[in-house]
Amino acid sequence: MSEFLDLEAQDGIRMPWNVIPGTRENALSCVVPISAIYTPLKQVPDIPVLPYSPLRCRMCRSILNPFSIVDYVAKIWVCPFCFQRNHFPQHYSSISESNLPAELFPQYTTVEYISTAETGPVVPPVFMFVVDTCMIEEEIGYLKSALAQVVELLPDNSLVGFITFGTYVQVHELGFGLLPKSYVFKGTKEVTKDEMLDQMCFFAGKRKPTTGVIEELQKDPWPVPADQRASRCTGAALSVAASLLGVCVPGSGARIMAFVGGPSTEGPGSIVSKSLLEPIRSHKDLDKDSAPLYDKAVKFYDQIAKQLVHQGHVLDVFACAVDQVGVAEMKVAIEKTGGIVVLAESFGHSVFKDSLLRIFQSSDNDLGLSFNGILEINCSKDVKIQGIIGPCASLEKKSPLSSDTVIGQGNTSAWKMCGLDKKTSLCLVYDIAKKDGSNTIGQAASGFDQEAAAAVMAHLVSFKMETEADFDPIRWLDRALIRLCSKFGDYQKETPSSFSLSPRISIFPQFVFNLRRSQFVQVFNNSPDETAYFRMVLDREDVTNAVVMIQPSLISYSFQSGPEPVLLDVTAIAADKILLLDSYFTAVIFHGITISQWRNAGYQDQQDHEVFAQLLKSPHEEADTIIRERFPVPRLVVCDQYGSQARFLLAKLNPSVTYNSDNSSHGGDVIFTDDVSFQVFMDHLMRLAVQ
Ligand SMILES: [Zn+2]
Repeated sequence: MSEFLDLEAQDGIRMPWNVIPGTRENALSCVVPISAIYTPLKQVPDIPVLPYSPLRCRMCRSILNPFSIVDYVAKIWVCPFCFQRNHFPQHYSSISESNLPAELFPQYTTVEYISTAETGPVVPPVFMFVVDTCMIEEEIGYLKSALAQVVELLPDNSLVGFITFGTYVQVHELGFGLLPKSYVFKGTKEVTKDEMLDQMCFFAGKRKPTTGVIEELQKDPWPVPADQRASRCTGAALSVAASLLGVCVPGSGARIMAFVGGPSTEGPGSIVSKSLLEPIRSHKDLDKDSAPLYDKAVKFYDQIAKQLVHQGHVLDVFACAVDQVGVAEMKVAIEKTGGIVVLAESFGHSVFKDSLLRIFQSSDNDLGLSFNGILEINCSKDVKIQGIIGPCASLEKKSPLSSDTVIGQGNTSAWKMCGLDKKTSLCLVYDIAKKDGSNTIGQAASGFDQEAAAAVMAHLVSFKMETEADFDPIRWLDRALIRLCSKFGDYQKETPSSFSLSPRISIFPQFVFNLRRSQFVQVFNNSPDETAYFRMVLDREDVTNAVVMIQPSLISYSFQSGPEPVLLDVTAIAADKILLLDSYFTAVIFHGITISQWRNAGYQDQQDHEVFAQLLKSPHEEADTIIRERFPVPRLVVCDQYGSQARFLLAKLNPSVTYNSDNSSHGGDVIFTDDVSFQVFMDHLMRLAVQ
């Protein structure tokens, strides 16, 4: 494991297969694809920063690197990708074996170039706030104070634009001091760039004018009948914002930050009618093709995505409502532009407020927002790229490197990343093209990174569920696991009891077991908006965080010992213990029944009970650490055994003891489920793998 982490620390990359199979046939029999999770802007300590432009191969444009073969006498380097011989330019003339430029040092597999030639003039960042006004006064109040705080935190040179929407779209002209002006657009239609052209001057330096607009923010004045939803033209507002940015600041770093408090019901991108009799689409509706507005809305947001990618701009969505707002439909535009998404119940909730501040506050955990990245990939002759799952858009630069099999953003060897930050990660999927060669499958297992494999499988299963009709995720995962285990397990044929897995692979079945039970696969427990949210966050996270989403961590606190990690199993529950569950989106502090009774009796406040007081405090301190480092900020649930909120913990535990079994241990708990337990799952797996 540790060698994989070292590689990640140095190059920001984790791969399921660190020994790449030599042939196409070998690669296919590996089941988990040849792939990588890559964090391009990962903060690498002591990364060499070179004050010049990279030297590129004149044939394939690859960059001079430690794997290039160098002829120091003839001053020539051979490109390791295409084997082209390249002459060193004049300024490399002093190169010798004892005088290497940093990019040839063997340990510098990742370097950073700072070249003034390739970066244009510095333009200020642009923030276009798009604010929903169809909300109750209380929510508007929360949002106002959050926005006022954010404006204070924006970089001093930033430009700010402001759009509000409800029944109509209102573009506020900033910079006219005491006389606020605004332009109103109909919510029912899209706005073209040309309609914008004569109405410039929407951006102002961030200070005074913006504060005025925020203070004036008011609830949409149009009356809403009791049996109707508010008339909310989210799509039209985003279309106006995109066109405005396209006219005013094309190609420079800009983001639309949309704050949405309810479902879109008016104009393009609507997800539901205004009548409250019609419920908002569920996963069942999507499955049965009975969500009449869904496809149309997705198509609309796909157009917005294309426009924004072309302009180099980002769409962030902060969806704060009890209802769904249409995140599932907007996903395509958020993800292709590398936008940020935060989903919360209210603009007053810490998940929203703290996440928003985290974006702009400078601290050890800040995001380090960047704009307008381009990712290029080059491969050796026998490796091709199928595509990328994650926050980016294909630049459609088809090359001999692009595989005919396409997954995610493919058909290209270059991708646009309009928005990215220090943590943004991508899942790259490759093909091995080589037909003949020796069988290297035996060595492949020695380089298997099971955590990276679990992350890649989570990306793939989510992607397939979204894009392939009638895809059966459970069957697909089970088949993959069985094939992997019969390939790499040790066993005698037809003898399940003889089955064993090397430590390199042994925890992978557990990851798959938990992935099957996770929010990525069991979508019917959530709304389409929630599922879209979970998947977008998964798609931009690194392996460590993806693993927490797939298989939450559980820590047990008791009088007997210090905090200790325990198995994600219902038997972890005990009357005299506190559990801390981290399932990435939620942190749960769960008090056993005795602990909660003592706490209710106030023992922690009495003298002689400092140990109990400390026991109560410890999980909160650990939860605070988790919350501080994570984006979006997770929800904290504090609950007691047998309380209604306890379901947040129980849903994640292995049901080794259910109402079907009668051996519930003293003070423990049972789970009311018909799900199979991990032991039953493993028994099946071993039986099938040895066939
Ligand atoms: Zn080359």
